[in-house]
Amino acid sequence: MKLPLCASIILCLASNSLAQNAQAVGTLFQVDFTTNNGGGCQYAGQTTMQNNLQDALGLLTVGAQLVTDYGNDVGEARRLLDSFFEVESPPMTAAQLQAIGTAYSRVANWIQNGGAVNNGQETGTPYLFCYHNWLQKYSMKDAALDTAGETYPNIYTGTEMLLNEEQMYITRQKQETTALKGTNAVPYWSSKHKAYIFDRGYVSSANAGACSGPGYLGVTQHSLSPSSITLCPKGLGATANANTPANLATAHYVGRRSVAANPVPKADVPKGTANSNFQQLSALLPSATTFLHEMFHLVLGNDVSYPTVGEVYYLFTGRGVPQVVGLNYEYAVANPESYALAAIAYDYTLANGANADGDRVEFFSGYTTQG
Ligand SMILES: [Zn+2]
Repeated sequence: MKLPLCASIILCLASNSLAQNAQAVGTLFQVDFTTNNGGGCQYAGQTTMQNNLQDALGLLTVGAQLVTDYGNDVGEARRLLDSFFEVESPPMTAAQLQAIGTAYSRVANWIQNGGAVNNGQETGTPYLFCYHNWLQKYSMKDAALDTAGETYPNIYTGTEMLLNEEQMYITRQKQETTALKGTNAVPYWSSKHKAYIFDRGYVSSANAGACSGPGYLGVTQHSLSPSSITLCPKGLGATANANTPANLATAHYVGRRSVAANPVPKADVPKGTANSNFQQLSALLPSATTFLHEMFHLVLGNDVSYPTVGEVYYLFTGRGVPQVVGLNYEYAVANPESYALAAIAYDYTLANGANADGDRVEFFSGYTTQG
């Protein structure tokens, strides 16, 4: 039986408009669109950022639809989730399905309504940065700064206290080095939080940070309060190798479904290996992708948004490393990129009509296929 979607048209219009709109990016986040200094987002622009946020919400809604359709035995939904969230003997259980749907819904709900982040533990309004320059990289041999951002004397020596003379910083540096599996952690000062965060050094430059290097798209941190998302230029649609301040202006908006799908028959697609002749899902990503990914870390918290094998970013198996296509459920359910890519894929499936044989565009193989 087909139930009417809404009992009252007026009520429906009201609730739909509420349900589908992202809050203002400047309400959900502390973000500065007037400068590129200090992590500011001038180069990205408020309109673009709001569009990315709205696209992220739209994709999360599609993700929830994907889960519902799987439960209703829709073939495209079944093939996609069984590929990207692979269980030993499909179909997945109601509980497994619900875990995916809940993750999509929680992030969507936050974009619409705000509220605490980091799995409910952080109530401060998070920062949104568009470059890592809200942090200043230091060495343990540099002078320590107090909560006012001032140097202060070592009472034993009378000279400026150094970071490597403060036990708490020595301890934190060691802890982070251990967490980085031996990569030496260095201190970064946040002028926003007036506190240090410890992280890898990235490259040797003094201005290096989480956006250094072409492969870095974004990062979310919860160790300083409030939490923050840093989107890197490349994570905002900048061209490859553009993660430097000089290239900030190359960031640009790519809307949902704005790249044309170019499907091939699925019988033509080889199994398991990348084939450059066919369009990959990764060629169709909107500029909201990184923002969407980072909001899973932000809202759900680190404990449930990092797979035990480490995050998986790419579609296909390479050098024996499992990737998004064919990733085991237990890893995929904690892997933000799996959620983002599945939603982006199903967005194309829903938006493109079926061909004469009734086949829709789909991506369970990692490639754009139809029929
Ligand atoms: Zn991540």
